Amino acid sequence: QVREDIRNIAIIAHVDHGKTTLVDQLLRQSGTFRENQIVQERVMDSNDIERERGITILSKNTAVRYKNIKINIIDTPGHADFGGEVERVLKMVNGVILVVDAFEGPMPQTKFVLKKALELELPVIVCINKIDRPEARPQEVIDEVLDLFIELDANEDQLDCPFVFASAKEGTASLNEKQQGNSMEPLFETIVNYIPAPRGDFEGPTQVLISTIDYDSYVGRIGIGKVERGSIKVNEEVTIVNEDTPDIHKKVRITKLYEFEGLNRVDVREAKVGSIVALMGIEDIHIGDTVCDVEHPEPLPFVKISEPTLAMTFSVNDSPFAGQEGKFVTSRQLRERLFKELQTDVSLRVEETDSTDAFKVSGRGELHLSILIENMRREGYEFQVSKPEVLYKSINGKKQEPMELVTIDVPEEFVGTVIEKLGSRKGEMIDMKPSKGGYTRLEFSIPSRGLIGYRSEFMTDTKGNGIMNSIFKGYEPYKGDISTRSQGSLVAFEAGEAITYGLFNAQERGSLFIKPGTKVYEGMIVGENSRTGDIEVNVCKKKQLTNVRASGSDDALKLSPPRILSLEEALEFIEEDELVEITPENIRMRKKILD
Ligand code: GDP
Repeated sequence: QVREDIRNIAIIAHVDHGKTTLVDQLLRQSGTFRENQIVQERVMDSNDIERERGITILSKNTAVRYKNIKINIIDTPGHADFGGEVERVLKMVNGVILVVDAFEGPMPQTKFVLKKALELELPVIVCINKIDRPEARPQEVIDEVLDLFIELDANEDQLDCPFVFASAKEGTASLNEKQQGNSMEPLFETIVNYIPAPRGDFEGPTQVLISTIDYDSYVGRIGIGKVERGSIKVNEEVTIVNEDTPDIHKKVRITKLYEFEGLNRVDVREAKVGSIVALMGIEDIHIGDTVCDVEHPEPLPFVKISEPTLAMTFSVNDSPFAGQEGKFVTSRQLRERLFKELQTDVSLRVEETDSTDAFKVSGRGELHLSILIENMRREGYEFQVSKPEVLYKSINGKKQEPMELVTIDVPEEFVGTVIEKLGSRKGEMIDMKPSKGGYTRLEFSIPSRGLIGYRSEFMTDTKGNGIMNSIFKGYEPYKGDISTRSQGSLVAFEAGEAITYGLFNAQERGSLFIKPGTKVYEGMIVGENSRTGDIEVNVCKKKQLTNVRASGSDDALKLSPPRILSLEEALEFIEEDELVEITPENIRMRKKILD
């Protein structure tokens, strides 16, 4: 049986290629909104950090209507895979729209998601956007997209995909790259005609597979998923089961049932096969749970949440400058915030440690944890973080380590440096080929630990011109010590504001953790060289943190054995002429001025 009145699609796009604008237009033109009603900006991409980093972390739902057909649009995480989220999202849909900028062409960030979609045999609509740009080159971009499909082993049907040429900005779409349309209708038509309607057993016993968890401080946990069989009704008693624990049956009553409409959730009495629903009021609901008919507690298989690969300790800030940065500083506040995060982020783990002031937080890679840190910092939490540490696994008595696949696009002149740096971090190059605009595409397989701290080095090495993406590859036998690495991760940050960002942030030198333009005070940075174990003292003369060099700078001084220096001690390592600027007094004084 077919739900002709529904289409479930996912949208895949590289950052800035126009996904948000496109969805806004679809909303505007779909009749979801009354005329002149302004669609809230940045519908799908509400998280600032996602924007800044060019990634989407949580998938969001929107629904538009076209000719009595409801089109559920699910955003896909565009960058790294935080624990199987991409696949879970893609399992809910029957097709995807790949949005590609008509000038830039396909970008590596979307490749991973597209690959998953192709593997799941989903039909793809290619939407070449920004066709209005004077420099648009749609014909070449079509070829580039098809090349990418071939590279990713698309099947014949997928290669035969429809292309829609759109200007999301102007709200137009066309099936012919030489003509500009006058509305989004061609795209709507392509969606309803090309993407299959969901099918399923209408009468069978209820099965709803929960794919995402949302959290709202008023209503608590919200389980979002698709009705896979039968229907679900308000006030009905259901059983929640999970493939992993098939013997545990939790009986609950559905008190609130929602579907998506526009940007909102709307109350419904009943939802049938193919509908994407939100269930509220079930405290104990998790990703991968199946909401079942009481008589038929049959769990559906789901994409397993992958294990964390990296851990960091989050602890209360005990530095002399504590309490100046944020309003939430106590261990209780830190604890509550971290445990709250677990409600929605399934690939995160939080554990208590021997100290009540410290928590071990494990996640999927440096980026995953850095996003959490940045989010918390923006919310006003002040805390310290340790250097990240890779989580090894023992498989058949052998030490195995997490590996990443890294894709890098850089101008040719930087290729040598990248190869050398990643090589010294145990990276193994698996591919190298020319890419557009004089760029070279490099692919590496590298231990996750080899990437720690590399991102900022990469940005410096490529003068900000490189693009780097990594995804978890799997566990492989331990590759041996990385001996030639010089990271200079900071152990103390005696230079103004930045002190509360802790060790790891300091190591990242602002490119990831500290907003460019953050004020720091003239002073010094004391850091540990992870290769030699030496402490390095770096003089910071600039007030923009982005310009601070953490290590390897000519004015780095060495101290052995490693220990944290007091400011006074550190002062001994500063050259005469620099000493005039840097004293505990003038640091404090400057701080006052800036406060
Ligand atoms: P997202 O990051 O994929 O969500 O991209 P946005 O929708 O935020 O768009 C990124 C930028 O491209 C914004 O400045 C948009 O105004 C612009 N943009 C989006 N669609 C078009 C288009 O069709 N034509 C042109 N010229 N610009 C567009």
